[in-house]
Amino acid sequence: MLLGWAEGHGRDLPWRHTRDPWAVLVSEVMAQQTQVQRVIPKWLAFLERWPTPAACASASLGDVLRLWEGLGYPRRARNLHACAHAIAEQATFPDTLDGLLALPGIGAYTARAVLAFSFERDVAVVDTNSARVLARWRGRRMGAAEVQLAADAAVPPGQGWAWNQAMLDLGATLCTLRSPSCDRCPVVGGCAFRGEGEDPARGTAGVSVAQAPFAGSDRQARGSILRAVTRFPLDRRRVAVESGVDEQRSQRLVDALVAERLLVERDGVLYLP
Ligand code: SF4
Repeated sequence: MLLGWAEGHGRDLPWRHTRDPWAVLVSEVMAQQTQVQRVIPKWLAFLERWPTPAACASASLGDVLRLWEGLGYPRRARNLHACAHAIAEQATFPDTLDGLLALPGIGAYTARAVLAFSFERDVAVVDTNSARVLARWRGRRMGAAEVQLAADAAVPPGQGWAWNQAMLDLGATLCTLRSPSCDRCPVVGGCAFRGEGEDPARGTAGVSVAQAPFAGSDRQARGSILRAVTRFPLDRRRVAVESGVDEQRSQRLVDALVAERLLVERDGVLYLP
């Protein structure tokens, strides 16, 4: 039922038209914490500029961060750039769970997503959307290992690609965090929760809660600082002025950005790496 529903209701996302592992990896890293509508133009631009890991590895991290601007969470860009180096050195794209997990910054979700969406393996991709669907469908809170086991057991043999896309689509479009549309859900007949009573997704491993407001957050201030340095190398005092972040907070966030290798400080001047 879920696969049938997805044929007519699944989202038509550009990375679903490719099985190229680099293109899939870039899409998964970008989409982890950013809305897909903001990811699409960046994904297209990224792959046009760096269509292979080797091409990306030949660019500076600063260039990757410049293109990343607007997506947020720039550590992802640093990790992706480090992955490009590792894959280019290996000369072949890893196609096993262990091989993918050995790449810098790649966790279980991304490794499984590349296996399912590029190599079409029957592994379950568990993100906040699919974990929420599973907990509600079963009608109880679940721990991380239980969610992964249940998700793996649910994959129909030979249909890992379509099944995982359908689970993600169901969670993103109908079985949403705040108000599930159970009346339109293709699996309502077997669902234990059906939107009634206490939500079993709350407290289930991997299910995210509503994010803290972006406005005024350190995340927003870090973005402003990186944007200011993207325009010109600046000393610390000018960074605070150009980014509009108060000086004490700016000092603290610049320290963190330098420690994370997202900024480089030479002779008192800050640069993109
Ligand atoms: S019936 Fe409702 S709660 Fe159950 S899976 Fe569908 S949308 Fe989610």
